[in-house]
Amino acid sequence: MKYLLDQATVKKTPQGEPIPGREAELWQNNAGGYVFKADSWTRLERFLILGTEGGTYYVDEHDLTKENVSNVRACIAHDGLKAVSTIWGISMSGRAPKNDPALYALALAASYADVKVREAAFIALPHVARIGTHLFTFCAFIDSMRGWGPALRRAVAAWYTEKPVDALAYQVLKYQQRNGWSHRDVFRPAHPNPSGQPMDGTVENHLNLFGWIMGKQDESYPTSLVGAFERAKANPDPNHVARLIRSYGLTREMIPTETQRSPEVWEALLERMPATAMIRTLGRMGSVGLLVPFSQAARTICDRLADSEQLRASRVHPIQFLNALLTYRTGKGLRGNLEWPVVPQVVDALNEAFYAAFDQVIPAGKRFYLGIDVSGSMTHGEVAGIPNLTPNMGAAAMAMLIARTEPNHFIGGFATQFIDLGITRSDTLEAAMKKARRNFGGTDCSTAIAHALDSRYPVDVFVVITDGETWAGDKHTCQALVEYRQKSGIAAKLIVINMVANMTSLCDVEDHGSLDVVGFDASVPALINEFVCHGGNESA
Ligand code: CA
Repeated sequence: MKYLLDQATVKKTPQGEPIPGREAELWQNNAGGYVFKADSWTRLERFLILGTEGGTYYVDEHDLTKENVSNVRACIAHDGLKAVSTIWGISMSGRAPKNDPALYALALAASYADVKVREAAFIALPHVARIGTHLFTFCAFIDSMRGWGPALRRAVAAWYTEKPVDALAYQVLKYQQRNGWSHRDVFRPAHPNPSGQPMDGTVENHLNLFGWIMGKQDESYPTSLVGAFERAKANPDPNHVARLIRSYGLTREMIPTETQRSPEVWEALLERMPATAMIRTLGRMGSVGLLVPFSQAARTICDRLADSEQLRASRVHPIQFLNALLTYRTGKGLRGNLEWPVVPQVVDALNEAFYAAFDQVIPAGKRFYLGIDVSGSMTHGEVAGIPNLTPNMGAAAMAMLIARTEPNHFIGGFATQFIDLGITRSDTLEAAMKKARRNFGGTDCSTAIAHALDSRYPVDVFVVITDGETWAGDKHTCQALVEYRQKSGIAAKLIVINMVANMTSLCDVEDHGSLDVVGFDASVPALINEFVCHGGNESA
């Protein structure tokens, strides 16, 4: 009878075969293993948060993008208004590291056949395209998809006419061009006209600014910021420019390039520098001699990075701190020959700011097993288009985030078996990422659960951080979870943090004790906390 006993069953099916009776729900992932298929809306979230830059180990950037774009189209066709509100929501809330996927998806909605969907996309436009760069990116996308009909013109024109003139001047000067688009290029098809837009009774001011954008030279400047911009251009003496920065709030993008080698100018810029600009220009401030060990600038920057309330108010995405950390600590730029002395306190402050930038939660107080996928595929590609951030490094950072919140945890690596990575919560991000940045071969995502069962570890929540390309196990991850619950008597939950925007899901849709979340979603702590404390099926 052994030949019959060897058949796959609903309790134990090799990952290379579908679970009997569930064939229709399962499909083969890129590694040849059978997994569940993430639904279209989950995939839309993954695309909006992780993007497809850099591709994955199995799928190159072009094909991964194509696959995701076709899913965005499917979501729009299925429920266009829901798609627009998802795009709007994720973009506005600051959950995603980059806004490009949202702008692309919005351009797709704004090009869709149904006029109601197009109208909704146009209403969302100023909320998704919040700064000049976003608008240029949106224009580049939509220009490749459709013509400039009256509704599109009106929507883009409103981006200019509905902003108070000073706020608009700031956008126009700070974001002058991107992706082959300048404001003048946008004005040509959109030709914004402020008359008929009562706004704040400053139609004339708008007209003056619009004239200036189109190159009209006038006796007077349309706003005081434009005046400061023009005077800095006419006299690029560093002390003069520093005075203009202090008096009018000029930003780095508004001052002549040649003045950007002067420490005086950078000192003036730093006084009112927004957090995003600050963490992006740490190397530059070091290279001009402003941000050096024992300097006042180093103290100012460390103080600002330590002000977690202000950081969250400035809505810098956590991954930007990780990105800054990865570059700054090397003491040289990725491109060009910029070099700077590294201030160790700034490295430490970036490390802490990464955690502080996520939404904050009260610990759930449960027993967490944090399983980091360190199989070969996790060494390839970039997370969210961040250079040098591989999925296994990103997975280590996410494990550290949860470990810092939940004191009662175990951190383990896995490929096809348990691997002790030696990561503890007192590691720096850099140390943890380094320990995880290795290649241990094949993949079995049920390993963490099997290891806990073999070791008799009582676990309330398994967190598996992976690309989902599992294939090597003798049972599916969802089967391992059921087995763990039966043998341990604990209604353990499974949370899978997906590090790439593919279609894989390891969570059985019929099991309410399983949840898919997207890696580097700024809401990860809140989503996990909500699910662990209130979600799912307690009796599962
Ligand atoms: Ca793998």
